[in-house]
Amino acid sequence: MITRRGFLESTGAALAAMPIRSLGAAETADVVVIGAGLAGLTAGITLADEGAKVIVLEANSHVGGRTHTLETSHAKLDTGATTVGPYYARVRNLMKRLDIGQVLPGGRGDMTISVGGQLLHPNEWENSEFNKTRGAERKLAPWLLEARLLSPDNPLTNPFDWLEDRFDKYDVSLRQLLQSRGVSDEALRLIDVTINANDLDTSSALLYLRDLQRLTWSSTVKDFSKFATYTPTTDGSSAYIEGGTGVLPKAMAELLGDRVRVNQPVTGVTTAADGVSVQCRDGSYYRADHVICAAPLAVLKDIHWQPALSGSMSELVYGTQPTLVTHVFFAVEKPFWEADTGHPAMYSDSILERAFAPAKGPAGEVAFLDCWANGRSARQLDAVPLDQLGDFATKIYTDMRPAAKGKIRFLTSYSWGRNPYVRGNKHEYHPGQVKTVRAAIEQDTAPLYFAGEHFRIGEPGMEGAAESGERAALKVLGVL
Ligand SMILES: Cc1cc2nc3c(=O)[nH]c(=O)nc-3n(C[C@H](O)[C@H](O)[C@H](O)COP(=O)(O)OP(=O)(O)OC[C@H]3O[C@@H](n4cnc5c(N)ncnc54)[C@H](O)[C@@H]3O)c2cc1C
Repeated sequence: MITRRGFLESTGAALAAMPIRSLGAAETADVVVIGAGLAGLTAGITLADEGAKVIVLEANSHVGGRTHTLETSHAKLDTGATTVGPYYARVRNLMKRLDIGQVLPGGRGDMTISVGGQLLHPNEWENSEFNKTRGAERKLAPWLLEARLLSPDNPLTNPFDWLEDRFDKYDVSLRQLLQSRGVSDEALRLIDVTINANDLDTSSALLYLRDLQRLTWSSTVKDFSKFATYTPTTDGSSAYIEGGTGVLPKAMAELLGDRVRVNQPVTGVTTAADGVSVQCRDGSYYRADHVICAAPLAVLKDIHWQPALSGSMSELVYGTQPTLVTHVFFAVEKPFWEADTGHPAMYSDSILERAFAPAKGPAGEVAFLDCWANGRSARQLDAVPLDQLGDFATKIYTDMRPAAKGKIRFLTSYSWGRNPYVRGNKHEYHPGQVKTVRAAIEQDTAPLYFAGEHFRIGEPGMEGAAESGERAALKVLGVL
């Protein structure tokens, strides 16, 4: 009996044995890009702009990866990225080029707090008996704890410092770093809710400090006009993409036209002396002088690499895991928050964790709530049968916030962990792995390059993905 793995290995070995140019009917290009998320699309556009023949292969039926907008009859729901930072040079330049508008966030900033089953107005938090944090921590809203506690003594002075060995002593777990700063156990428990990671033990503090430094830097810039490469909003604030974040990758793919092929999951990549062959699940294959793989790290183990991935790249692919995020969306049928705290968004220590209430524009209405669960909570939500999730989540929410009873309606959920082509929110590098990440970023050379948010250097989120795609494309252009 031929197993899938056996089949991949035998076909991969056979392909590796023959020169790529003798493969006959394959479509050819200068560069094949694997994955049409922001990293892959940015690489594709950068290459096409310079006249390279490029093909972008996307496994899913649509482009965008973690920038995906679900269109429901109630509202457009961003399941992945929502916010464009004021300092996102590449993303903002693309928006300008593609004539994509932005909407400034509205709403009421603060969040209602539900801790230990008690609903609190944010102003009540400091002196509440349900606030079991200590000393200066008491003044801080739970969702601000780690940033406020770590920012003042952030050893990194710019977003690139993490690349230097001298900061390796911070490549410990977030829990260790916070404990070394005297953070209380209760504050650690509350931080575990907001932290954009699976938990405080499995995530490297050094990379958290990098992202914190980048945020701090942006919030201290008073005059963005001094930064010629940035095209921020006039007041330096963040923005949403008009029509939903999915508008951006769609427009990028339209710019690339028939160079982008959807429903093409890549199953094998074979490198030989005269080029690279890329095989897809439907049996089609492509050959190119260079390949940029911009698929998430978590799915690279599903691709048959010939020769096998080695060194630090292999260590990361087989030795890390993505962070889990699951959303639960509720339609707001009637505003209910004036009956309790006045703030529609809510932080809670339940498995629904944070319920965001996006409002677009200064007078923007809150049409839906987006409950965002990380790590353990996401895993718990994912274990609930889909046909029961609506009732399950509605009960949790309305038990915490009775004023919402009858005023919200379960819309849908979205689990990134269950997306077979992404498998999570972002890649979680474990304490002690930063050296390997640095080495893997350096490791790729002709004809096989890697891009994606997992290899971002100084920028976060979408901008980081675009940064990595641009970097890979520039490397290829340097040798084409
Ligand atoms: C819930 C959530 C909220 C976020 N919020 C923000 C935010 O507010 N602001 C921000 O800037 N960023 C945010 N991000 C992060 C941002 O979305 C990502 O950093 C960025 O979109 C990643 O882009 P990428 O191209 O690296 O990967 P992806 O977008 O994952 O793209 C990879 C692509 O590769 C494809 N693929 C996988 N396997 C194969 C294969 N075998 N063959 C072919 N194609 C394959 C996938 O289908 C996918 O389309 C958020 C992410 C999540 C999940």
